[in-house]
Amino acid sequence: MIGLPANDGTPRVWFSLLLPREGGFEIRHQALDYDAAGAARAMREAGLPEDYALTLTSGLWPNLDILPLAERAMTGIPLAFPPLFWKPREGGSWRAPELHPPPVATPPEVAFARLETLWFHLGSRCNLACTGCYVESSPHNDRLVFISFETFRSFLDEGRGFGSLRRVGFTGGEPFLNPDLEAMLAHALGAGLEALLLTNGLAPFRRALPWLERLASRHPGRITIRISLDAPEATAHEALRGKGTFAPALAALRALAPLPLRLTVAGRRAGAPAEEAGLRARYAALFAAEGLDLDAYDPTVLVLFPELGVSELGEGAPLPLPRPDLLALRERQGLSLMCRRERMVVQRKGAEPEVVACTLLPEEPRFAVGATLTESFRPVRLDHPHCARFCVLGGASCDPV
Ligand code: SF4
Repeated sequence: MIGLPANDGTPRVWFSLLLPREGGFEIRHQALDYDAAGAARAMREAGLPEDYALTLTSGLWPNLDILPLAERAMTGIPLAFPPLFWKPREGGSWRAPELHPPPVATPPEVAFARLETLWFHLGSRCNLACTGCYVESSPHNDRLVFISFETFRSFLDEGRGFGSLRRVGFTGGEPFLNPDLEAMLAHALGAGLEALLLTNGLAPFRRALPWLERLASRHPGRITIRISLDAPEATAHEALRGKGTFAPALAALRALAPLPLRLTVAGRRAGAPAEEAGLRARYAALFAAEGLDLDAYDPTVLVLFPELGVSELGEGAPLPLPRPDLLALRERQGLSLMCRRERMVVQRKGAEPEVVACTLLPEEPRFAVGATLTESFRPVRLDHPHCARFCVLGGASCDPV
């Protein structure tokens, strides 16, 4: 039994030969061509999953979730392995062949489809200064200033004019530090939209709880709150967010649980994708222990984000940018790129408000796409490492739908 093709875009399957040699072994990975079409036909006749029957001939896996990002970047690249020599007596350790995804000269450009979610970056100030925060938010960071209610309303009115807008998103920094948030939220809900709020659930959030309860009761089921819990254990969470931040975040979850709103949690997926099931199990145990009715296995309830700063190709080796064919494959597999259906409003210190392509790149000048929403609906070239790491290879999204 040799199994599936190696996701390299060819129907070949593989076996390895361990050949004794002087002082060790030669390891040869051998490709095997066989009647893949016949095997696929037999699978279909046996009523086995179509995805896998297709994989036998396409050589592409229907799902890449268990693969490390470096291997995802190799999707569709025909594999070739030189013979390897392993000399155990010389203390030689066995090392898996290194993967070198080809560099991408011209990353794809994606067209804008329709505006479904309009995000507002409410300012880079935060009551915390978390390790690895992708926008370096802190109590002193005011590179992105508080968006005012007037700015919010003018962009929202423009956005509603397109007829496809369903939701507004509020992010930061810590959105509950923005003094106009209550008015913005009430205005959006009053306009019949849904709202998604990201928060660390600490003091600024707690101060807002009374008005949040009122709005949630007035507009049941229309608010989604996502509380950041970087890890399901206090030590790991506080190592990133600071001492004394775990218990209050849990208290925020318990305070929100009885309200008529949708409660979700944002976590960090530090390990390899294959470890995700174990991580979700640890969150599930925590939620159960806290009496929280949250499904840790539902990716829209426990939203796990890949670490943005690390590379799996070894120290300093960035993941390649997305290849056009790989983007096409990922979208066929169900990837829904944020920059096709969302835009975000930001305001840099000393500048006018503007629109950026997505939530992940608020300060990247080449992702600033317009002074108005209409202007911003232009194609975006996916030439930032986040495009590969978070979206195309990572398969993550700031608003999984
Ligand atoms: S980071 Fe993701 S959403 Fe943002 S521009 Fe790149 S691919 Fe699009």
